[in-house]
Amino acid sequence: MPRYKHHIFSKLPRVRTTIFTTMGQLAQKHSAINLSQGFPNFEPDPSLIDLVTQAMKQGYNQYAPMAGVMELRETISEKIEQLYGRHYHPESEITVTIGATQAIFTIITAFIGSGDEVIVIKPAYDCYEPAIEVNGGIPVFVQLNNTDFRIDWEVFRSKITPRTKMVIINTPHNPSGTIFTKEDMLELQRSLENTDIIVISDEVYEHITFDGQEHESASKYDGLASRTFVCGSFGKTFHITGWKMGYCAGPAELMYEFRKTHQFNVFSADHAVQKALATYLKEPQHYLGLNQFYQEKRDLFLDGLSTSRFKIKPSQGTYFQLVDFSDIAQEPDEVFAERLVTEHRIASIPITGFNTKGADNHLIRFCFAKTNETLEKATEILRNL
Ligand code: PMP
Ligand code: GLN
Repeated sequence: MPRYKHHIFSKLPRVRTTIFTTMGQLAQKHSAINLSQGFPNFEPDPSLIDLVTQAMKQGYNQYAPMAGVMELRETISEKIEQLYGRHYHPESEITVTIGATQAIFTIITAFIGSGDEVIVIKPAYDCYEPAIEVNGGIPVFVQLNNTDFRIDWEVFRSKITPRTKMVIINTPHNPSGTIFTKEDMLELQRSLENTDIIVISDEVYEHITFDGQEHESASKYDGLASRTFVCGSFGKTFHITGWKMGYCAGPAELMYEFRKTHQFNVFSADHAVQKALATYLKEPQHYLGLNQFYQEKRDLFLDGLSTSRFKIKPSQGTYFQLVDFSDIAQEPDEVFAERLVTEHRIASIPITGFNTKGADNHLIRFCFAKTNETLEKATEILRNL
């Protein structure tokens, strides 16, 4: 930690550099195959890059409108309506953000204050809790069971109190690779009836589901859509995580409040990229083929590990695969993950940090958004452990 001569009151005393950064740096140091942080190691469609270049040459180099380029918001609106049957008004119900991360942070900041409780389902992606805590809120955890990562809705309901202001869900789910079923969404809807609880539905992997399973967007359900911000990420869908471009959609009254914070948080997102995405998103084939594309990668990865000593339940969605290493080693997952990089040159993500109270179930996460060559090299090493 850096030394500084004055006393600093930390608003986030327990937060450290994220495991994604730590494992990424370790991967680099040891020239390891990096299956840790979730990003593709292949290039996006060159025509998308051309569209951004064109937009820059056409002069879209100054601030975009605060809520986003209208043509992009219109296209997002049409896409959601086409896929999930819900109309979001482009003017008042959709805002373009700097990745889903900023949408989530800004929603929490706009609505959560001191002592407000937010239900977080664990294991959880790492950006939710610090955003709650930095705003004075209190994360309240519901732990998924550690065999199949299903949620016990009775336990969920028992966590709702008069102070519960928000619930955060994430489907397809990072890191477990499970998805919420229609029954789950109906249970959630029923559990929140007669409350004013707001929902963040983190759906950044909406286009990555496998084996014919449908993504259940919160926007499909009347009783959820009326209280939910649905968050999306172009980074995940178009292999452009470094462009940090996302959006959220939600009812006008909620979006009105959201924008009060958004305009002072970032004001607006990259103009040229929004212009490019407005054109690129009009073509459904640019996102509807993603399920198949990543299913082939998942299957290649799983085939490669079929004779390994890892215990594996195939991922149902996202580009992550959890594996249980308890037949190989009994040490803590962080130690195993570190050894995997330093001794075998494969970087992964240990799951402990995502669980309630750091529970260790001997699980690590691999990202399979990688070229087939990378996946083959990685599985060759992993099957010999
Ligand atoms: N939510 C989940 C579940 C994620 O895995 C990620 C990582 N991409 C994000 C949100 C953040 O998305 P973005 O990169 O668009 O900020
Ligand atoms: N979403 C990415 C993952 O789960 C991480 C992005 C980040 O490092 N913030 O791997």
